[in-house]
Amino acid sequence: MAKAVRMMEDNLTLCDAVVFVLDARAPASSFNPKLRDLVKNKPVLYLFNKADLADGRADGLVSLLKENGKNALKFSANYSGALRKLQEAMSALVAEKSRRLKEKGSARPMRFLIAGVPNTGKSTVINLLSGGKHAQTGDKAGVTRGKQWVKCGAFELLDTPGTMPPYFENQKFARRLAYVGSVNDDILEYDEIALALLEELFATYPLGLSERYGITGGEPLEMLDQVCVRRGFILRGNEYDYERGERALVDDFRKGKLGKVCLDNPDDCAEIGLI
Ligand code: GDP
Repeated sequence: MAKAVRMMEDNLTLCDAVVFVLDARAPASSFNPKLRDLVKNKPVLYLFNKADLADGRADGLVSLLKENGKNALKFSANYSGALRKLQEAMSALVAEKSRRLKEKGSARPMRFLIAGVPNTGKSTVINLLSGGKHAQTGDKAGVTRGKQWVKCGAFELLDTPGTMPPYFENQKFARRLAYVGSVNDDILEYDEIALALLEELFATYPLGLSERYGITGGEPLEMLDQVCVRRGFILRGNEYDYERGERALVDDFRKGKLGKVCLDNPDDCAEIGLI
């Protein structure tokens, strides 16, 4: 954590503005409040990415951020028209600074850091902006020694995403990050995550569960039974293959097969300091 924060601090000093990529299905959970402290007074655009997997509640949160004076954009890096929409929002973010520099006779490009917790789509966004010129897609530390900039029209981007560690201090947010795939699967307790996901989805988005698995209620473990039955994950001796059921459930959720969602609400945004 300390190293990531130091690297982020170094990188931030070189940039004029920051695009903080959030997951539109869990925007509060994918916000690390440490970043806001690091950014200090530089302009930030909160990009609600993967909006193709999120429902109208995400729109509500974008509006909420805007009402609170933040720059926020509902976005899907996979959609046509995405590039232009993002370029416009980024231009607006640095318009004031760019104008001031021009008045002083400087024509240097505006520099951006694309930051966020893992798997929110930072590399995809960098590739989109750079037209694929950006070489690195992983977050491997130490790949690049000096700072490298990718030219993207009127902007320059740091060629490696600023990856922030997830904010693990709150279990609710940590679990939601796990559902959407922003926590390394190796360190996940899949059974816990799957059962918690069933409980949370049944409370907020029961339709997806009933349509895909015929779930109409019950304790989380009973719902998992239903997943196994519907998917045919039955072992010899008629036991349920819970491991396969858990993975299938999480996978279905991540791919949007249980419907579009937004798990965080305005209170969550306030709680984590996003508004
Ligand atoms: P990073 O770890 O933040 O750099 O994330 P990546 O750019 O590697 O993206 C993680 C995954 O999310 C990849 O499989 C991308 O294809 C996918 N992804 C990125 N943007 C979107 C989006 O807008 N919608 C959807 N559905 N998937 C996306």
